[in-house]
Amino acid sequence: MKEQVLTRFKELFGDEGDIRVYFAPGRVNLIGEHTDYNGGHVFPCALTIGTYGVARKRADKKLRFYSMNFEQLGVLESSIEGLKPEKEADWTNYPKGVIWAFGEKGMQVDTGLDLLLFGNIPNGSGLSSSASVEVLTGYILKDLFGFGVTNQDLALIGQFSENKFNGVNCGIMDQFAIAMGKAEHAIFLDTATLKYEYAPVRLKDAKIVISCSNKKRGLGDSKYNERRAECEEALAELQKVVDIKSLGELSEEQFEEYKGAIGSEVRMRRAKHAVYENQRTLKAVEALKENDVETFGKLMNASHVSLRDDYEVTGIELDTLVEEAWKVDGVIGSRMTGAGFGGCTVSIVKDEAVEHFIEAVGSAYEKKIGYSADFYVVEIGDGPSRLA
Ligand code: ADP
Ligand code: MG
Repeated sequence: MKEQVLTRFKELFGDEGDIRVYFAPGRVNLIGEHTDYNGGHVFPCALTIGTYGVARKRADKKLRFYSMNFEQLGVLESSIEGLKPEKEADWTNYPKGVIWAFGEKGMQVDTGLDLLLFGNIPNGSGLSSSASVEVLTGYILKDLFGFGVTNQDLALIGQFSENKFNGVNCGIMDQFAIAMGKAEHAIFLDTATLKYEYAPVRLKDAKIVISCSNKKRGLGDSKYNERRAECEEALAELQKVVDIKSLGELSEEQFEEYKGAIGSEVRMRRAKHAVYENQRTLKAVEALKENDVETFGKLMNASHVSLRDDYEVTGIELDTLVEEAWKVDGVIGSRMTGAGFGGCTVSIVKDEAVEHFIEAVGSAYEKKIGYSADFYVVEIGDGPSRLA
């Protein structure tokens, strides 16, 4: 892959000077969904698939960007001066946002850049290609301009730029999982405090399979904001009877004791998901530490049921992928992952069942939904790096 992106870069931008190649992963969240803005825990891992970047510093103030995933747009040119989000700038708003964010944090990028990207994860499908591009850009700026930032800083800068430059109200999970990724480990992250711990993912004779629904999120963004608002309202109602700062502080028992304070049945279900999903995440990490993959899988299944019935963020495409997965022998657990409404599911599948899984779930999906799903058998990888 390195050779392919380097060759394309040289064709477009010439082969002189100090040209460097980088990689930042995508991520998948194993459990802990819609908990990150409720002060709860998440358990994502970085993948060995993600985004490649080729970059070279320029002597002038120009930015020249090209993505092999958006070839029809050609080379998009702009300047490091007066950076602001523009509709015509399309995907380049992501790397530009990061350059802008460095400036906001007192790290001025003073010369331009030639940058080529190639992602081998699907875009807009919940594997966080946007955060991958952000963390990649941050890592490139750090390396080319010598900024003294840690990988955790890169996560925060990436989130800041996505929130403030791209206007997407995302939590910290995606950028954190990508910037802090560690091969063969998932990251047990407390989103309230950013305390984290690496937990080895020892699946023995099983693989992580991502099923991509190819359903675009559509209404997803407005529903995402609606869920956030519902949880905030439920929290405010609970705060009248119990002293908490977030839903993530409640145990299941406490929730059952105080839930009467929530004024609507819908908000009660939303809050229930946030509380129970957080507790499931704690239990799932414990189970994994004890090599109890079966229990981990059952908690994944329960997570999906809760996201489907109480949080209502699944939809027929994700439900079909998961419900068909549950029917396959050798599936240890399966659930939707990411914000929902479209995007991907994540399943843990015994090695010998993977081929049949893809066949069976794929054909049932196509029959019911009318178009096909894509499958990725993935490995857990490291955070961003410069490729030698
Ligand atoms: P997700 O993060 O779940 O993949 P988003 O909608 O948040 O979905 O981000 C997708 C957007 O990120 C793309 O539409 C594009 O603007 C940008 N992007 C991601 N990967 C690339 C890439 N390889 N090249 C150019 N832009 C990319
Ligand atoms: Mg994204």
